[in-house]
Amino acid sequence: MQLHWHRRDLRASDNRALAAAADAAEADDGVVSLFVFDPGVLEHARPPRVSYLLKSLAELREWYREQGGELLVRRGEPEQVLVEVALQLDADRVVWNRDYSGLARERDSRVRMALADADIPRESFHDAICHKPGSITTNQGDPYSVFTYFGRKWQDRKKDEPFPAPNAEMLVDRANLSVEAANLPTLDELGFDEPEADLLPAGTEAARRRLDAFCEDGIYRYEEDRDYPTRESTSRLSADLKYGTIGIREVYWSTEEAREDATEAEAEQIDEFQSQLAWREFYTHVLWFNPEVVSQNYKEYENAIEWENDDELLASWKDGNTGYPIVDAGMRQLRAEGFMHNRVRMIVASFLTKDLLIDWREGYDWFRQKLVDHDTANDNGGWQWAASTGTDAQPYFRIFNPMTQGERYDPDAEYIKTYVEELEATDPEIIHSWHEASLTQRRNAAPEYPDPIVDHSERREQALAMFEAARGE
Ligand SMILES: Cc1cc2nc3c(=O)[nH]c(=O)nc-3n(C[C@H](O)[C@H](O)[C@H](O)COP(=O)(O)OP(=O)(O)OC[C@H]3O[C@@H](n4cnc5c(N)ncnc54)[C@H](O)[C@@H]3O)c2cc1C
Repeated sequence: MQLHWHRRDLRASDNRALAAAADAAEADDGVVSLFVFDPGVLEHARPPRVSYLLKSLAELREWYREQGGELLVRRGEPEQVLVEVALQLDADRVVWNRDYSGLARERDSRVRMALADADIPRESFHDAICHKPGSITTNQGDPYSVFTYFGRKWQDRKKDEPFPAPNAEMLVDRANLSVEAANLPTLDELGFDEPEADLLPAGTEAARRRLDAFCEDGIYRYEEDRDYPTRESTSRLSADLKYGTIGIREVYWSTEEAREDATEAEAEQIDEFQSQLAWREFYTHVLWFNPEVVSQNYKEYENAIEWENDDELLASWKDGNTGYPIVDAGMRQLRAEGFMHNRVRMIVASFLTKDLLIDWREGYDWFRQKLVDHDTANDNGGWQWAASTGTDAQPYFRIFNPMTQGERYDPDAEYIKTYVEELEATDPEIIHSWHEASLTQRRNAAPEYPDPIVDHSERREQALAMFEAARGE
């Protein structure tokens, strides 16, 4: 019997370790799957993510049961649980897909050791990204710190086809199981409140619907529209890719299928989308080779930055009360949906670090709490990019102007009005010049909406001085 340990691969199809277990099971006596609620992971989790996880697990368990199989559920230290369950089932092998983030690597090495001590064969598989860390390097064999070259090699590399889901016959009949399946815990039993955010539907079916819808429409205008938050041209697959409710090969090959019907101009839009998949892999590689970036600047000299870290300014940013409409809309979307559009993530991150002069780690921590798609590699990569401390980051002197960004990417203030109700009836022109309007104009136009908490031009100069001092210039 093969025991498959699900982690960030909450799906049956396009799952490399599960497919390998099913292959081995043909000559053996079937596959049983297991999910472990690990206290070490739950400690860092937050309601939006746990809610998404539980819904995805419920759907996955349903899938196994429909096939006659089972997804066992346990709570506890994985190194103990895995050994215990493997021994109870007399498993011939335990398999799982690798997770490349730091804490997961430490946990997996403890699990490997515990299984080895108990003499239980084990194997881990590369699955979460198309090309594993170390497989795309410079000609000298070093990891890339600049995306462009990485992206080109990523695009040129041959990609695996999706792996098939196991057939019903390859799963151990749940009626013959000698161990208890156990109920899925509720959010409350795991110690979490219901999320305040209204999340997208979770699970593989919902992910497939998003992928199909995207490949019929958004993908063909992706490059043109992706920066405009109301144009709905992005895939919305980030939480699915984070939890693995859909496989990366399935996503990639669906976009290649979309290419078959594409004009030359549309093919370029598809290239741009695939390039975002490559950014995801780039940041996964960065984290693999530099696990310390979770809490430290990638660029060491930037450690001398003297952030101001004003608590009141930080609270206004978190609450979406900065008096900069596009920033506030983004921060309120984050609370309302556990999600924020990419362009707006860049704007709010730049605003926190370069206008409020607050350490990116504060922003990263808030995103970690609120985002349903929080992914250590991408979140960290995004924050260090915006703060100019990361790999291939925004240069420190290129500082977004939040007003012109709002005007360019949300000209009719449609996105802003969706989330900032105090501005619902306000003219877009006033919204986009809020920082320049007089107090009387502001009071007349939107009496409830806050005045700007800082002056962008002044803060820009202070940010430049802060970075230059850190660089010894
Ligand atoms: C400050 C900041 C924090 C971020 N935090 C996260 C995070 O925690 N989790 C996360 O998945 N993405 C993060 N991103 C990247 C990006 O904002 C989201 O992936 C994207 O908005 C998700 O929407 P989508 O699925 O519609 O993306 P699409 O545009 O459809 O992109 C497809 C997929 O490519 C990947 N991707 C897209 N853009 C990026 C990028 N810049 N870097 C890495 N991968 C990317 C994601 O997996 C995404 O689902 C962050 C960006 C910034 C600037």
